[in-house]
Amino acid sequence: MAAIRDNLQAIRERIERATAAAGRSAGSVRLLAVSKTHAPPKILEAWQAGQRAFGENYVQEAIAKMDALARSTGTSDPIEWHLIGPLQSNKTRLAAERFDWVHSLEREKIARRLSEQRPAGLPPLQVLIQVNCSGEASKSGLAPPDVPALARGVAQLPRLRLRGLMAIPEPTPDTSLQRKRFRSMRELHERLRGEGLALDTLSIGMSEDFEAAIAEGSTMVRIGTAIFGAREVEKSAA
Ligand SMILES: *Cc1c(COP(=O)(O)O)cnc(C)c1O
Repeated sequence: MAAIRDNLQAIRERIERATAAAGRSAGSVRLLAVSKTHAPPKILEAWQAGQRAFGENYVQEAIAKMDALARSTGTSDPIEWHLIGPLQSNKTRLAAERFDWVHSLEREKIARRLSEQRPAGLPPLQVLIQVNCSGEASKSGLAPPDVPALARGVAQLPRLRLRGLMAIPEPTPDTSLQRKRFRSMRELHERLRGEGLALDTLSIGMSEDFEAAIAEGSTMVRIGTAIFGAREVEKSAA
């Protein structure tokens, strides 16, 4: 397997090319490195290659890595940690205390808890609503018609800052279907902006489909395998 540094460089170049091909401005798509199941030395390797934003799926696994990495990286240029996996209500306090972003909001009750539990000394927690853009093919995320009501509610919470939407469409090699799913997300995002919500983030696109996502307006791609290689067996619970 190529070194993580080389993989990161290759992904950055592909992001730049896809961004330019879509006629979008350079730097308008952020790269989130998804490090779930990968050990701290691999994350450190990516950090040494300049990567600063990392995504994790499981709260406890992430916190162990945060602690290990804080010792290696120091605190002057901290890692930005994103929770991208499902969040259960018994983990909201840890999530509110330790993460910078949560991408997987789909219930108002969880949002209220995160807002109440976000420590006063930290900036507001940056949040995205996870949308099910594949209908029955996917179980995670909120059905699109239910998103505007949750978005309005979340936007009122004092310790959260609603930044936009996240989705994980069903995997498919059919690029026109990928584009169709991502386009529906962009349209929903625009609709919410049209209602006056100050959203700026569309978290769509993974290793196998990020170019289609960028073509449809992604502002943040979440990439694991193409940076770190195949994952170890995934744990089942957050
Ligand atoms: C695992 C995961 C990713 C990364 O997937 P790859 O196909 O390895 O790039 C992105 N987003 C979420 C929510 C994930 O769970």
